[in-house]
Amino acid sequence: MATSGGSNVVRNGTHNYRSSLKPDRPLSANSNPKNHVKSKPLSSTGQRRNSTGTIGGSSAASKDDAGVPGRVRVAVRLRPRNAEEMVADADYADCVELQPELKRLKLRKHNWDSETYEFDEVLTEFASQKRVYEVVARPVVESVLDGYNGTIMAYGQTGTGKTYTLGRLGEEDTAARGIMVRAMEDILAVVSLETDSVSVSYLQLYMETIQDLLDPANDNISIVEDPKTGDVSLPGAKLVEIRDQQSFVELLRLGEAHRFAANTKLNTESSRSHAILMVHVKRSVKGRDSGLSNENGNHSHMIKSLKPPVVQKGKLVVVDLAGSERIDKSGSEGHTLEEAKSINLSLSALGKCINALAENSAHVPFRDSKLTRLLRDSFGGTARTSLVITIGPSPRHRGETASTIMFGQRAMKVENMVKLKEEFDYKSLSRTLDIQLDRLSMEHERQQKAFEDEIERLSREAKRQISEAEKQYGDALEKERLKYQKDYLESVKKLEEQMVMMQRKNENSHPTSNGESAEEAADLKIMLQKETLSRKAAEEEVNSLKIQFTELKKSEASGKLEILKLHKKLEDEAREKEKLQGEIAILQSQLLQLSIEADESRRQLGRPGSAKDASGPDSLTSQVKQQQPSGNGEKASIAKLFEQVGLQRILSLLEAEDADVRIHAVKVVANLAAEETNQEKIVEAGGLKSLLMLLKSSQDEIIHRVAAGAIANLAMNETNQELIMAQGGISLLSMAASNAEDPQTLRMVAGAIANLCGNDKLQTKLRGEGGIKALLGMIRCRHPDVHAQIARGIANFAKCESRASTQGIKTGRSFLIEDGALPWIVQSANNEASSIRRHIELALCHLAQHEVNAKEMITGGALWELVRISRDCSREDIRTLAHRTLVGSPTFQAEMRRLKIVL
Ligand code: ADP
Ligand code: MG
Repeated sequence: MATSGGSNVVRNGTHNYRSSLKPDRPLSANSNPKNHVKSKPLSSTGQRRNSTGTIGGSSAASKDDAGVPGRVRVAVRLRPRNAEEMVADADYADCVELQPELKRLKLRKHNWDSETYEFDEVLTEFASQKRVYEVVARPVVESVLDGYNGTIMAYGQTGTGKTYTLGRLGEEDTAARGIMVRAMEDILAVVSLETDSVSVSYLQLYMETIQDLLDPANDNISIVEDPKTGDVSLPGAKLVEIRDQQSFVELLRLGEAHRFAANTKLNTESSRSHAILMVHVKRSVKGRDSGLSNENGNHSHMIKSLKPPVVQKGKLVVVDLAGSERIDKSGSEGHTLEEAKSINLSLSALGKCINALAENSAHVPFRDSKLTRLLRDSFGGTARTSLVITIGPSPRHRGETASTIMFGQRAMKVENMVKLKEEFDYKSLSRTLDIQLDRLSMEHERQQKAFEDEIERLSREAKRQISEAEKQYGDALEKERLKYQKDYLESVKKLEEQMVMMQRKNENSHPTSNGESAEEAADLKIMLQKETLSRKAAEEEVNSLKIQFTELKKSEASGKLEILKLHKKLEDEAREKEKLQGEIAILQSQLLQLSIEADESRRQLGRPGSAKDASGPDSLTSQVKQQQPSGNGEKASIAKLFEQVGLQRILSLLEAEDADVRIHAVKVVANLAAEETNQEKIVEAGGLKSLLMLLKSSQDEIIHRVAAGAIANLAMNETNQELIMAQGGISLLSMAASNAEDPQTLRMVAGAIANLCGNDKLQTKLRGEGGIKALLGMIRCRHPDVHAQIARGIANFAKCESRASTQGIKTGRSFLIEDGALPWIVQSANNEASSIRRHIELALCHLAQHEVNAKEMITGGALWELVRISRDCSREDIRTLAHRTLVGSPTFQAEMRRLKIVL
């Protein structure tokens, strides 16, 4: 490719690349013009660009799952002559000549001949560390902050400045800080530590073994690949959360010390190993309607808005490669052959992959080494990648320098498809809901307290008024009484005096007094009558006062009645609150189950081949597929068969005379049933009926297993579930459950029943026809995969039942309890297999949400399990659910008080 001759420019790459090579373009892996930011300072708000930051926005990356093309960017950096070279090469010119303004490098062949190469950036021996960071690394760091993966890698001969460029800590001289330190500074300046997280791992790859530089005891870490997303991860590596720059620098220093110690122990030097820093940046996306902003949102509003927030997950990988000279020389430097091969393996595999990608080969040998497996996303993947190749000036190393340059030239041709990494954050939604619930309960408590205080105050005030009125009336009554008594006594006294006077008169003038005394007697009579009248009036007055007094008493009684009514209202309010809390708990449990199901199906979709430890219905598919040599060829040939022979014909073979033909036919049908598009056709053509028939009539274990697997696949859809039930499927499956011995057959049967258990409409029928008993019968097989399916069925059933109870469709105790499932549930709640344990924990929470089940659960020992789950369950959300369920149940509360259990 290189053309000899004084000033020939070696062109590389496609038109696409050439046109992107504008003179002032910084070294950015980002070819989306909107995201193209020159090396300007980062702002601290984290909102520099919004083009990639929003879902459903204008971002090409988020709309188009295929991503945006982004070529690997390559810069070359020349190290200044060192002291030794000053002396040894004093009489010679450098082997390279740089033309940074033209982004060209001339490699001298002879004094009169040179080859010229173009790079994305040419960094002379005078380029500062700051400039190197800005052109090589900053665009990648910005992408990572926007939720993309990014890679920065240094390649070159030992001693040319890879570690200087990437790893310098620069503590004595801040200008000397390398890319790792500067990248973290930029990241920490942008993320918000309340909502985002930054965590790092630091590793060394030596002789195809990955060692943890943050935990030296951890010296054989394995790589895990997600076949669906292609993401690689190292779950065994220590991950340290970074909150400030100082702790990051400490961590790098610690890693460096461990690297030194490890290399001393292995009797090697760091130039033979690759150092890999991984920085995970997780940011929650702001300004989006998370649906929870409505503070006074009512119940139904809340359900509508269970929309989880979004997180962006960018990963920055910084790789300080082993010295490239080892490719050629390792064998000659006293290594054993094995060691030499391993040291070279990763680096030469990287070279092969880059070559294959540069030439657009159909096969890229990523799997040949650990390094290429780790960097799969960096070359030809979804990351933005910057490569800096380091060279020395000495003409003595011309060969190494030339091969380094060629590596860089090929890497420039590698195209990546850059993709945004973001997903829904269910955990934070659940946290937000918790906070909201707490706030609502607090508000409710506060209102209740205010209400009670008000009632107390009113009743005190009423009592005070009543007693005051009583006292006033009593006083007035007494005064009146005394007054009349006094008047009465006085008039009686007057009468007596008059009587005495008259008697005296009578005695003195006896003969004449007859007429006069008669007159006086008449006067006296009148006076007496008057007195009597006024006494009557006084009595009436007293009576009316008495009436007033009883009325007052009556109104006091009605006040008390009012208070009673208010008390009753208060109790109603409290009951309503309890009911609402129950509903919230049920909603949360359903949300939880959904998220667990989503997790599980994601996990299983990601591992189509590993049916061994999977437990969901999808894995049944792959199990069935394993009955035959699998692979795309096989699948294609079945599809072809399907087309050519026709479904009817295949189904008719299910009843063939020849047992082998029957077995083969049922396998083909099972394979077809694994595809959703075929399921309806199979059922329509009577395939379901034939499969059920086979289950009934065949004696063959393989046929039972494959037919049950096919039925399990068909049972994933609601209409088919109803058809299966209508055609007596549950009793046939029950029969298969009691006859089969082979764990794989039982797993298929249990899987089919578990799918049926998840249908709300079939609950009663399923139970009535012995479905639950059949599930429980399969417990006799101790295989964990079978138990996982049983647990899934029980959780599904409990979920539907709980829903029906909430809606008032179902009353009375759970059928699961009626049918004797509780002892196994309690026994399995602590099972070490998480696929069993998680389903059972959820089933327990569903059951516990209904008071009718509480007594049985207490006698069966389920309360202890719930208490344990609420304390120890490793999943925080299940832990919270169990806690809330226990707190919400009066029966459990009473029992816990009795047993003195404190949550
Ligand atoms: P490598 O990691 O590629 O083996 P190093 O980074 O260890 O190389 O560099 C080798 C030596 O050269 C070190 O002493 C380093 O300080 C020095 N060096 C490398 N690059 C530069 C540079 N650009 N300016 C000054 N000194 C450098
Ligand atoms: Mg080094």
